[in-house]
Amino acid sequence: MSDYKGHLFNKEAILEWLLTPGREDYTKAQIAKFSHIRRLDDVVELHGVKEHANTLKCEYGDVALGEASAKLVYLVPCGDVLPRQVLSDGRCPQCGASYQETDVIAINSSSAKVIKSLKDRMTRLQQEMRHHNGKLRRKLKPKPERMEEAPPNKIRKL
Ligand SMILES: [Zn+2]
Repeated sequence: MSDYKGHLFNKEAILEWLLTPGREDYTKAQIAKFSHIRRLDDVVELHGVKEHANTLKCEYGDVALGEASAKLVYLVPCGDVLPRQVLSDGRCPQCGASYQETDVIAINSSSAKVIKSLKDRMTRLQQEMRHHNGKLRRKLKPKPERMEEAPPNKIRKL
């Protein structure tokens, strides 16, 4: 699985984190690494990668993560992992789903420019009340809205 920063996580590690709201047995460093993950919607499940010789291998094009010739990315929301250079026409070459250029997430990028653009993307999503995977966030303050919708005589009683 991967977050908006393009960091990789084992699915088990994510589930364990989400099931441990008290954060018992987590170090400060681990909490910092996971703190932006509050729901499964904050990560995307990746497809088309295999663990191979201590690294991850992208099945499309058979390239390993970190190989100089290929920068690996994944697409939101399909989660397909692909070498950056095979993307061209806004359609995932693996599953055919259309994607926005902003939803191409570089995996483990060390480029400050790329990391900034990923953070900017997440800020935009938060303003649109969306999660990393594109799903709408649940509204946090339903109470005032209900009062506005209530008939005027009920509001007077309050
Ligand atoms: Zn796809």
